[in-house]
Amino acid sequence: MAEKILVEHLVKKYDEHTVLNDINVSIKKGDVVCIIGPSGSGKSTFLRCLNQLEEITSGNIIVDGTNLTDKNTNINKVRQHIGMVFQHFNLFPHLTILENVTLAPVDLGKLSKAEANEKAISLLESVGLADKKDSYPDSLSGGQKQRVAIARALAMNPDIMLFDEPTSALDPEMVGDVLNVMKELANQGMTMVIVTHEMGFAKEVANRVMFIDGGNFLEDGSPEQVFEHPQHERTKDFLNKVL
Ligand code: ADP
Ligand code: MG
Repeated sequence: MAEKILVEHLVKKYDEHTVLNDINVSIKKGDVVCIIGPSGSGKSTFLRCLNQLEEITSGNIIVDGTNLTDKNTNINKVRQHIGMVFQHFNLFPHLTILENVTLAPVDLGKLSKAEANEKAISLLESVGLADKKDSYPDSLSGGQKQRVAIARALAMNPDIMLFDEPTSALDPEMVGDVLNVMKELANQGMTMVIVTHEMGFAKEVANRVMFIDGGNFLEDGSPEQVFEHPQHERTKDFLNKVL
């Protein structure tokens, strides 16, 4: 199935506050979607709804044909196929880098310890951090921690990766290394949904940019369409401020 994520009439409220208002989106296999928009517009909420870290108020979210809102759906099984990377890494401080990366696949019985180690080392190599495998997170820079967080998410062999402002907490000189890892992932065909303020990255790597404001996506198109020919004044205002 070419369609990986189908969002139908998604509404998310916190009490009486409607954050997401009747969102309809279809994301295809291999899509690299960058979500942009002002602070508080619901970008994180939307991302978190995609793997049910937030309970949705109404609507449907269908991942690989499985409706997440269906009572019979084993959400933990679905989540195993969706990697998530947050702004603040969330590495386990008391575990080594290698242990951080091997923990989930071993605990969930996906891989033996030996298989997980082998896979973790190869993933750490791919993010340029194999030499840090026995270090603890505290001894790494923010950019290195974020690359470990990406390797950790990939250790579960996800086929969708969600990123919530992965470079926003990083010193500027660390941003490029993390974006390069993400770019490599995109080139390998990973389906990715990325909340980001890195407009250069969105232009270069995304095949699709979506601008959210006022509870819904106002723009949804190629980077060229959204950046060069935005349809809404609110998008133009936003782009004038950030570009
Ligand atoms: P963004 O990621 O675009 O900055 P968020 O998705 O974090 O925006 O938040 C969207 C809106 O929802 C904001 O008004 C925020 O205050 C509100 N919100 C987010 N999380 C919660 C929560 N757990 N409880 C109540 N309101 C929340
Ligand atoms: Mg956010």
